[in-house]
Amino acid sequence: MDGVFISVEVNGDAAADAALAAKLEEVCPVSIFKGTPSGVEINAEFLDECVLCGLCLDAAPDGAVTVTKLYSGETLTR
Ligand code: SF4
Repeated sequence: MDGVFISVEVNGDAAADAALAAKLEEVCPVSIFKGTPSGVEINAEFLDECVLCGLCLDAAPDGAVTVTKLYSGETLTR
């Protein structure tokens, strides 16, 4: 899912994990993740509010979440 400045991807298995989805919703300070019973949804309207804090990366298994700065191509992952 892409904003103008930020893209956030949650990979397949992780995206379908309701427990992880709830955790991501809890940690993101700008409400980019929405936890649902079937997994993670991205609140696209908030993507560009990302403050690059990395809390979503710390809350998820290695490689599950990738945040991309579209203006530089740099990716944040774990
Ligand atoms: S880096 Fe921070 S602000 Fe950006 S999506 Fe992850 S938790 Fe939200």
